[in-house]
Amino acid sequence: MKTLPFITLFSGILLLVACGSRTRQEQPEFVSATAVRPASYAGNTPRFKALLYYSDAVEEAHQQFTHQSMEFFHKLTYGEGWILDISTTLDGDLSGYDVIIMPDVSPSAPQERKLFEQYMESGGGWLGFHAAGYNDLSTEWDWFRDFLGGVRFLCNTWPPQPGLVDIETHDHDVTRNLPDAYVAPATEFYQWQPDPRSNPSVKVLASLSPKNFPMGLKDIVFGGDFPVVWTNTDYRMVYINMGHGDECFSDATQNLLFVNALRWVVSRSPKENPFDR
Ligand code: ZN
Repeated sequence: MKTLPFITLFSGILLLVACGSRTRQEQPEFVSATAVRPASYAGNTPRFKALLYYSDAVEEAHQQFTHQSMEFFHKLTYGEGWILDISTTLDGDLSGYDVIIMPDVSPSAPQERKLFEQYMESGGGWLGFHAAGYNDLSTEWDWFRDFLGGVRFLCNTWPPQPGLVDIETHDHDVTRNLPDAYVAPATEFYQWQPDPRSNPSVKVLASLSPKNFPMGLKDIVFGGDFPVVWTNTDYRMVYINMGHGDECFSDATQNLLFVNALRWVVSRSPKENPFDR
């Protein structure tokens, strides 16, 4: 017990020395962020404009993802780097949008479908999640099926659950900075027919790992190819399978994938790459 004051004193001296040495260190000269930006930077925001098209006339789990996606993308506009409009309708002139984001729905009204076709065929950008790509024989929209890569919904895993996702290539801006694999938060995984991979215009960027199979507790999938992120290179688009329920934005790797996909679609705008200025 008698040594306690000494230890306390000694510790105090060490602390003073440590603090002193820190304050005496040469501090690097502060360089403001604006000093390293191009001189033209201040006049170049917002860089691009996006439209988030949605519907609440969808199942509850798709509403959850839809509203979380509104919050997710809205936060990415902080600092007024870009403009996000949110609407339940497609009308008027869409050409001002660098990308249209569709979380869990695609248009069903004939005039909206026509407008979207014209927009995409004129170089428009699309980022679609989950049920936004859903189409079957009853959808009766051949253009959209071709746009997705010529594929229709075949089956799904159920219930929603996490899944190990393989990143198939790092030679692409959507996946360049991602790990070789990650566990996607709980979602419903779709399988497609024919396999999107069979279309030479489709580039698959990520797929469900075969290690997941057999997968599901009710609807069980025993194997097969499950591409979950791809682009049809005939268009400026990325389709992402994730988007069911309220967990899809809970993983940093997946969030990065979402941001990468948005950024890549926008970066290929025929007007210009807004990130180059
Ligand atoms: Zn779903």
